[in-house]
Amino acid sequence: MKIVLLGSPGVGKGTYASMIKEKYDLAHISTGDLFREAIKKSTDLGKKAKEYIDRGNLVPDELTIELLKKRLEQKDAKNFLLDGFPRTINQAEALEKITKIDLVLNFYASEKVILQRLGGRRICKKCGAIFHLKNRIPKKLGICDECDGELYQRADEMPDIIRERLEIYRKKTRPLEDYYRKKGLLKEIKADEDMNSFNFKTEILDKIEAVLDGVKNK
Ligand code: AMP
Repeated sequence: MKIVLLGSPGVGKGTYASMIKEKYDLAHISTGDLFREAIKKSTDLGKKAKEYIDRGNLVPDELTIELLKKRLEQKDAKNFLLDGFPRTINQAEALEKITKIDLVLNFYASEKVILQRLGGRRICKKCGAIFHLKNRIPKKLGICDECDGELYQRADEMPDIIRERLEIYRKKTRPLEDYYRKKGLLKEIKADEDMNSFNFKTEILDKIEAVLDGVKNK
């Protein structure tokens, strides 16, 4: 199955992708992760992308589409979950030329929940573990529970940049909801619950499974 995950930054697409991929054996392809990897390795693409990412802007379509195209050519990418792509109509049209999508899951939550989730994230510099000032509080302030590494806040998760990313989402990415709705591919999933609540993972996985099983049995 070829699935696109849509939803605002901070809605939890990455978390849901990990849950789905384990159960359905799909490659999890996140353009954000691919860019961050390129930045870490200081490749030409990474250097170009960093300028846009740090400011909360979208990386230009040509660069992003090229990156995704290459990733989809890899052996493991026959069935996949796309997380963070497409983000513009132009990208969606390019994707259509590369392959046929079976389903688009659109996750939505209130702006209050989104701001809280994004603003509180802290990441370990050493091992990459993710903490949250409300949902996964580190035992020692600013220090990783796993390896004692220093925790930092992603440059693109600072308050001003978050606002910029949400605005860009509204303008450039939200139109994709209609685009896929008209094609009959869009399924909505409410993801507003407190991620920390005992039932959250089970509830969201149940919702996702109901949609996926419905599509498989068609
Ligand atoms: P994410 O981890 O998905 O929030 O992505 C982090 C950043 O990478 C975004 O804020 C964009 O600057 C960039 N990015 C990721 N995916 C795309 C895309 N499909 N188109 C343009 N820029 C992207």
